[in-house]
Amino acid sequence: MQRTSRMLTPQEALDIILAHVQRLPSEEVGLMDAAGRVLAEPLYAPEDHPPFPAATMDGYAVIHDDTSPWREVIGEQFAGHVTDVTVTPGTAVRITTGAPLPAGADAVVPVEDVELVDDHIVIRREEVRPGENVRPVGADVHRGELIVPAGTVLGPAEIGLAASLGTASVPVSRRPRVSVLSTGDELVDPGQPLGPGQIRDSNRFMLVAALQQAGAEVVWAGRGPDDVERLTELLRERIAESDVVISSGGVSVGERDLISAALRTLGTVHIERLFMKPGKPFHFVTVGRTLLFGLPGNPVSALVGFEIFVMAALRAMTGQQPVVPEPVTVVLAHPIEPGDRIEYQRAIVWCDETGTLFARNTGPQSSARLLSAVGANAYLIVPPRAEPYRPGERLRAILRRPVHGQAR
Ligand code: AMP
Ligand code: MG
Repeated sequence: MQRTSRMLTPQEALDIILAHVQRLPSEEVGLMDAAGRVLAEPLYAPEDHPPFPAATMDGYAVIHDDTSPWREVIGEQFAGHVTDVTVTPGTAVRITTGAPLPAGADAVVPVEDVELVDDHIVIRREEVRPGENVRPVGADVHRGELIVPAGTVLGPAEIGLAASLGTASVPVSRRPRVSVLSTGDELVDPGQPLGPGQIRDSNRFMLVAALQQAGAEVVWAGRGPDDVERLTELLRERIAESDVVISSGGVSVGERDLISAALRTLGTVHIERLFMKPGKPFHFVTVGRTLLFGLPGNPVSALVGFEIFVMAALRAMTGQQPVVPEPVTVVLAHPIEPGDRIEYQRAIVWCDETGTLFARNTGPQSSARLLSAVGANAYLIVPPRAEPYRPGERLRAILRRPVHGQAR
C-alpha cells in the first residue's frame, strides 16, 4: 500500500485519475432514450438527405428555360404524395415546400412571382434560374458522411439528424454506476428535527443531483457507520456493484481518519491531499476497475472535488470529449487576495459587448458556504502569489454553466 504525502496540484491529480480510468462498454438505445447519452462510435449518414430533389418554397415546378408565354397547370405535388406527372414545355405543376420535384422540372417559381389565370400561370419576371428553390439529392448530407463524432453528448440536433437519416437507434456508452455515501455522526436528513450539534446531510442530495445531471446510474448507499470495520464492509459491498464509489466526509486530519483507514484497507491509495482550496483532503483510490473518491465533508469542497475530478473520470469512462474542458481567460472585475494554495473561487463570468469575458467571485469563499456556489457559472482559478490580484488582471476560469451578456 503506497502512501503519497506530497500535496498534488489539480493537474497532477487529474493525470493520475485519468490514467486509471477504463472505458465502459457500449449499448444500443432507441432515439427516444438517447438524450444526454454519450455516442460510443462515430455516426455516418446511411443515406442522402434530402432523398429526392425537394422544393424549398410553395410555388410552381417548371422548366427554367421554357420560353412559353404562359404555362398550363397540369397537376399538384404535395409533400408525401408523389403524382405521376411530367413537366414539359408549356406546363407547370403546383408544388408545396418539401415536396419532391416532379419529373421534367428543374426549378420552382414561388407563388408570389406568378399570376394564376384560370388554369394557367404567367411568370412575372424575366428569368428563372436552373435549380432555383430546389434542394438537390444529398444537398444537406451525403451518404457516408461523418455526421456525429464519437464522444458527443447527444442533444436535440444530433438526435433529430439521426432520425432524419433513418437511424432508429445509436450506440452509446453504458451509464456509469455510481454509489454515494455520507459519513458523520452529526448528520441528519432534511425533514428530521435538528438535535444539538447536528447538521443536515446536504452532500447526499447535492452529490446525487450532480450524478443525475451527469447521466450516471446513482445508488444512495446510506450514511456510513462511524466504525472503520463496518464502513469498510459497506464500501466493499458498494465497490463490487459500482464503477465509482463516492464518499464525503471523514477525511480531515484530526477527525477520526475514518475513510482514510477504510480506503487504505480496501485498495491502492493514489491521492490523499491536494494543493488546492477548497478540497485539500481528497482521496483517490482504486480497487480493480472501480474508482473510489473520498471527498471532503465541507459541501463546497465536496462539490468542487466532484465537478473537477469525478466529472473528468466520468467523462473519460464514457468517452465524452473533451474529458477536461479548457479554461477560458477572464478579466478580473475586483481585487482578490490570493491564498497559499491554488484556489477555485466560485464566480460569475459574463461577456460585454466587445466579447471580453469578465469575472467576479460570489462573495465569502468559505468551504462550508454552499451559497457561494449558487448562481456561480464558473470556477475562477486563483494561483497563490505574494501580492493581491488587481482589477483588470487576467485569470483563468472553468465554466460550469453558460455565459450571458450581463452579470446577474
Ligand atoms: P469531515 O471531512 O468529515 O471532517 O467534515 C468536514 C465538515 O463538513 C464538518 O463540518 C462536517 O460537519 C461537514 N460535513 C461532513 N459531511 C457532510 C454532509 N454530508 N453534509 C453537510 N456537511 C457535511
Ligand atoms: Mg465527518
